[in-house]
Amino acid sequence: MTSPSIVRTSTAELYDAHVMKNYARAALTLVRGRGTQVWDDAGNRYLDFTSGIAVNALGHCHPHWVATVQRQAGELIHVSNLFRNPNQGELARRLVGYAGPGRVFFCNSGAEADEALIKLARLHGVAKSGGEEKCYKIICAKNAFHGRMFGGMSATPQEKIQKGFRPLVPGFAFGELNNLESFAALVDDSTAAIFVETIQGESGINPCTPEFLHGLRELCTKRNLLFLLDEVQCGLGRTGRFYSFEHAGVTPDAIAMAKGLGGGMPIGAIWVRDRHAELFQPGNHGTTFGGTPLACAAALAVLEVIERDGLLAQVRTQSAPWIAALQKLLVDFPQQVVAVRGQGYLIGVQLASDLGPYLVALRERGLLAVSSGNNVIRFLPPLNASADELATSVEIFRAVLAAKV
Ligand SMILES: *Cc1c(COP(=O)(O)O)cnc(C)c1O
Repeated sequence: MTSPSIVRTSTAELYDAHVMKNYARAALTLVRGRGTQVWDDAGNRYLDFTSGIAVNALGHCHPHWVATVQRQAGELIHVSNLFRNPNQGELARRLVGYAGPGRVFFCNSGAEADEALIKLARLHGVAKSGGEEKCYKIICAKNAFHGRMFGGMSATPQEKIQKGFRPLVPGFAFGELNNLESFAALVDDSTAAIFVETIQGESGINPCTPEFLHGLRELCTKRNLLFLLDEVQCGLGRTGRFYSFEHAGVTPDAIAMAKGLGGGMPIGAIWVRDRHAELFQPGNHGTTFGGTPLACAAALAVLEVIERDGLLAQVRTQSAPWIAALQKLLVDFPQQVVAVRGQGYLIGVQLASDLGPYLVALRERGLLAVSSGNNVIRFLPPLNASADELATSVEIFRAVLAAKV
């Protein structure tokens, strides 16, 4: 028997040679994480305010999450959805508890959750038009982001995302965010649903106003449309409420969630309000990996820590002084900082110029952040970040601004 030859190649070289080039990656290899901190392969430590793009709700390797996942991995990892598993039932119960009477379908990502909502809208249109497939239009918002599969991509009117992939799925129209009239003007007999992100996460952190959400709810009720919310990024506690639409006090007909739900384990879900929850029937939708015992155990661990440690209230309390300190940068660096937007731990800081050099400078001073849109720096601390860590992030940002990169 020959032993495989051992080739020592750096991670950077392996990526250069073998990994698809579809991301603009930072020159950084991360090897270990603990709480809000993460380490690279040279031993440098960073404050991780990316949270894997709103995924690591409890930071890295939270002990309760790790213990739960380890235990479940030794018990039962995957079974088909042709059978029940206890964790999926319990997780559905909890998510319904937060959203209201309804039902949950489990999938594996935000894109898949959004696809499920789009298919739900089509089924609603069929029910609405007496069984015919002629009522299928979905009205979305300009600058939206609903994932990169064909349905969600077609609902994402951004050239950089759609270019090269046409023809798109037909039946999407786009209104101006926070302009109710522009949405109302697009509604006709072929319309099945209105679908928006409660806070647009990928195009600069643009929140829907409460008035706009209430207006859409009313419009949907009046015209028998489904009111669909994409909470993939802004949901799961990120704004200090479990779902971010709770701040406005509206009731959607269905929502998509994913990112923070599994605390790092891939899992997505949709919740559908009771009156529409039977549109999906055996055979018309499904996915192999949706709601496995392992993924649901991870999500249950996230919910347990959020509840046990009072993280929703903590996000609300701690985010106020943090956002105020970021807003102070507007006053102190008016040439560089244009706006601060968002809610809770989903915050965008709009800069006057290209943010590439800023992201590098922040990283060099030990803070990881991501971009959102063209010139907005997005901070996504984990829900259990400490007040000190939040304050440190502002100090680092302030130092970068003072150094005028
Ligand atoms: C990230 C995101 C998606 C897509 O989720 P994936 O898990 O990357 O497929 C969809 N909608 C919103 C609002 C998102 O932020």
